[in-house]
This record gives sequence, C-alpha cells and structure tokens, in this order.
Amino acid sequence: MFSIKTKIIAAYTFFFGALLIVLLAVIYATTRINNYQKFDTRLRNFAKMIKVEIEEQVIDEEELDIAEIRAMPREGLLDVNIRLVQSDGQEFYADRPFDHWPSIRKNADASKQQHFYDVHIGREHFRCVAGPVEAKKDTFYTLQVLASLRDVNADLNRLFTLFIVIVPLAFVVTGFSAYVISGAAFRPIAKMTVGANAISLQNLETRLDLPKVKDEVYELGQTLNNMIARIESAYKSQKQFVASASHELRTPLTIIQTELELALKKLNDPTANDNIKTALAEIEGLTQLTTSLLLLSKVDAVQLSLQKELLRLDELLIDCVHAMQPSAAKKGIRLDLQIEEAVEMMADKEKLKRVCLNLLDNAVKYTPLSGTVSVILEAGNNSRVGFHIKDSGVGIAVKDLPHIFKRFYRSDETRAKAPGSGLGLAIVQELVALHKGSVIVDSASGRGSTFSVELPLR
Ligand code: ADP
Repeated sequence: MFSIKTKIIAAYTFFFGALLIVLLAVIYATTRINNYQKFDTRLRNFAKMIKVEIEEQVIDEEELDIAEIRAMPREGLLDVNIRLVQSDGQEFYADRPFDHWPSIRKNADASKQQHFYDVHIGREHFRCVAGPVEAKKDTFYTLQVLASLRDVNADLNRLFTLFIVIVPLAFVVTGFSAYVISGAAFRPIAKMTVGANAISLQNLETRLDLPKVKDEVYELGQTLNNMIARIESAYKSQKQFVASASHELRTPLTIIQTELELALKKLNDPTANDNIKTALAEIEGLTQLTTSLLLLSKVDAVQLSLQKELLRLDELLIDCVHAMQPSAAKKGIRLDLQIEEAVEMMADKEKLKRVCLNLLDNAVKYTPLSGTVSVILEAGNNSRVGFHIKDSGVGIAVKDLPHIFKRFYRSDETRAKAPGSGLGLAIVQELVALHKGSVIVDSASGRGSTFSVELPLR
C-alpha cells in the first residue's frame, strides 16, 4: 500500500512530466516545420534568381552563359547542385555529376509551377526544387536546384538533444519539489498522529496541538479534540457511576450483614443457621467486591493519592503473614517467612499491605492442602527493594498468564473451584504502579507460582 504522500508525489510528477513532454514535442514539431519552410523559401528564391538570369539571357538572345550561373551567390544553402534537363529528358547542364536527381514529373513541371522533392542518400537529406525555365527561345527546360538540409537537421538534432536532457532533469526537480511540498503539507497531520497516539484513558484531558493556520488540518484537529472531549466526559460520568454504585452498595450490605449476624445469635435452628451462614459468606464476597470496585474507580478517577510514610517493609510483611495465618492453618498450609534484613522505605502502608495481602490470599487460595507459601524479602540496594510470594500451588497455565492482571479475569479452572472476583491482581498492579514499582509473575501449570514485587525505597 502506498501512502497518500507517495501517491501525490507520483501523480504530480507524472502529470507535470507528461505535460512537459507534450509541450516540448509541440515546440520541436513547430520549429521543424518553420525551419523547413524557411529552407524551402531560400531554395525557391535561389531557383527563381537562376530562372530570371537564364530567361534574361534568352531575351538578349545570348548563348547560355553557364559560368555566370555557376558563379551566382548561394548564401544560406549547402552543397548546392543545379541541373537543366531538356524536354526529351536529356541532361543539358549540371553543376556536378549527381546520381540521385528526382525524376521529373513531366506534366506538372511543364506547367510553370515549382515542385519540391526530398532526396535521401544514406543519412544525408537533400531538398530539390524543380520548375520550368525558358532556356532557348520558346523551348522550356526543367531547372532543378538541390541543396543539403545538413545545417537545418543539425539545428533540430541539437534541440532534440537538449529536450532529452531537460525531460529527466524536469522529472527529478518535479519529484523533489513534490516531495518537499507534500512533506510540509503532511507534517501537521503526522504531528497530530503522534499526539493522538499519546492519548490514553490515563490522560484523556490532553488535547491535540492545532496548526496556526486555520485550514482543513486545523478543522480535523478541532473535530478530533471535540470528540476526545466527549469521550472524556462520557468516561468521567461512567467512572462516577461505578464509584457511586459501589459506594451506595456498601451501606445496605453492611446493615444486612449486621442484622444477619444478630439474627444468627438469636436462632437455634441448625438449618436456618446454615442458610444464614451461606448468605453471610455471599455478603462477605459482595462486600469485598464493592471495596475492590471502589478502590479501582478511585484509581481511574486519579483520586487515589499515596499517603507515604517511613515504614519497615519486613515488619509489614510479618503483619500480613500473621493476618493470613488462620486461613492458611485451615488448609494445613505452612507459611514460611524469609527476611534477609530489615528494610526501611517510604511507602503508603495501607496500600502496600493490600498488595501483600492480595498476593498472599491468592497463594493460600490456589495452593492445595498441606502446601507451602513463602514470603521472601531480599536485602534492598541503594534505591530499590524486592519481595517474592512463592507458593507450591496449582500454578497458572501459559494461556492465562498474559491476562491474569486484567480486571475480572479468572481462569476457567479457578472460576469453578475457588471464590473470587478477578480484581485482586488488577488492584495489586495499580497500587504497585502508584508506587512507581513493578510486579511480575513466574508460573507454570502444576508447578506453583512466584509473584515478585519491586519498589523504589523513596
Ligand atoms: P481472583 O483470585 O479473585 O480470581 P485475581 O485477580 O487475584 O482474582 O487473580 C486472577 C486469576 O489469576 C485467578 O483467577 C487465578 O486464575 C490466577 N491466579 C492468581 N494468583 C494465583 C496463584 N497464586 N496461583 C495460581 N493462580 C493464580
């Protein structure tokens, strides 16, 4: 596929080139006709002079003085040859022997008219004029005057060579100027493309730079800017809606939860207890979901700022491991903590805890009974620190690996087996990104998983 710029350059060069060729062809053709006509006029005038000279001599009843004819000035004519032919076709006189005289058109030549002939000998081109002349009293001969067109053709050849040089040169110059002009014309569009590519959901408030001149490109840019503004406002209201919805859901859920817990205390019927317990578990899930949704909507609305403080990462990890102990114990999972050294850093304590708890929760959730989950804190270097959460669990299939950090993504296997919403890792990624850190995973089906988080110390 050719770009519009290439197409414009090609079309411009082609049309200009074609026009130039037609123009030069017309110039060449008219010059050729003109030069030939001028030559014919010179030849005709010269023939007329000879005719007059011969006829004057005949009036004076002199013998034809050939020497005088031979001596007549032949300016502007090359290789001139003159011949007189009697009516019986016998040559009466010729300047020089010449084997290629055109045959005489009898009737026509006798009728006082002049006729022109072309004579080609190899590459040499001659022109011949023939007409009647009264060479003796009441006796008409045919006078033939011949001259070479060498000079005229040489001029025409020079002109042709010049045109042959001009045409490719004109193509190059036209192509180059088309390239420069179209480059300048497309530059604002290229700039706009770069600008548009840089706009994402994170910077929807950005607008495209518009060119100074209010032309079509300016209009296009303005239209795109208006469109981005509409998308921005729709996106904002959608985010606002999610935020409000999750906020509104939380209050009634909390009330229902409290009420059900109270009812549970009052009831002694064991089946009713089971129902209420199931309902409470669902409500617990819903509460977690709305909390996650609210957090993500705040991230999207760029409303979530970090409350950084000086903290001990080793202590934070110990706290998280303690918090996970009850659920790990239920599955007989051993929680292993390996800390190389105390690490002090500036970070948002609550958000970092959420990162650690989400990863630990997954590790326990996706590790079968009696497995091991390890939390490993590396010694930090001058600027960064890393910790790993490693489990001996089910692992993650290759097909799922590129998607696990996406919102609401859950692998088909875990969807059926473990509860969850598919938001845990999305939150981990957002919170780590807020700290200007990174999170990566190393896992394979059936071989456990290791999530590694790296964070700046300040
Ligand atoms: P959830 O755990 O609620 O499903 P997450 O966003 O935390 O949502 O995780 C997304 C998916 O990534 C999970 O459904 C699971 O398939 C996979 N996953 C995450 N952590 C692990 C882990 N430690 N071991 C195996 N699979 C995991």
